[in-house]
Amino acid sequence: MILSPLKIFPSAGHNNKDSGAVKNGYREADLTKEARNNIARRSKAEDLIMDEDWETNSQYQSRIKPGKGSVLLDIHFNSAASLASGTECYITATDFNNKNSLSYKMADEICKITAKVLRIPNRGVKSDNLSQHSRIGILHLGAGVSVLWEICFISNSKDMNSYQANKEELMKKVAEILKKYDERIL
Ligand SMILES: [Zn+2]
Repeated sequence: MILSPLKIFPSAGHNNKDSGAVKNGYREADLTKEARNNIARRSKAEDLIMDEDWETNSQYQSRIKPGKGSVLLDIHFNSAASLASGTECYITATDFNNKNSLSYKMADEICKITAKVLRIPNRGVKSDNLSQHSRIGILHLGAGVSVLWEICFISNSKDMNSYQANKEELMKKVAEILKKYDERIL
């Protein structure tokens, strides 16, 4: 494994062995793979390192070694039994406690653009120690910028209809944000 300091790491969050949430006729893994591929299509191939669909999250995480100059974005969809709606991003507690950290700033930008493009609530940037997992492993691999993005609620058909109608614009904007942060921390 070699250090990959200047790359963008967009990952699908789920894989062929792990569907993630299944609601409203959608499988989270299919949606996150599509979102990752959409971002990849809008980025320079040589800038990217991505997860393979057959890899488990732990296989992917042990294969990559993002350096300080790299940007990592792990993509998910939220799910709830209620009619919860909106977008949110998780970052490490350390990054959360420093509002000037690049992870905080990129997460804030991604939340704002998602809320605007999809016209859904901005649930904001959150610390991973407040997530259901207490510590999200992929945020702690050493990337200079690490964000987990919950695009919207797979369990909310209004969120999903807006996502399907606006995903091209959304992924274009997010690919631009990733590139901007990747260049910023060279
Ligand atoms: Zn997920």
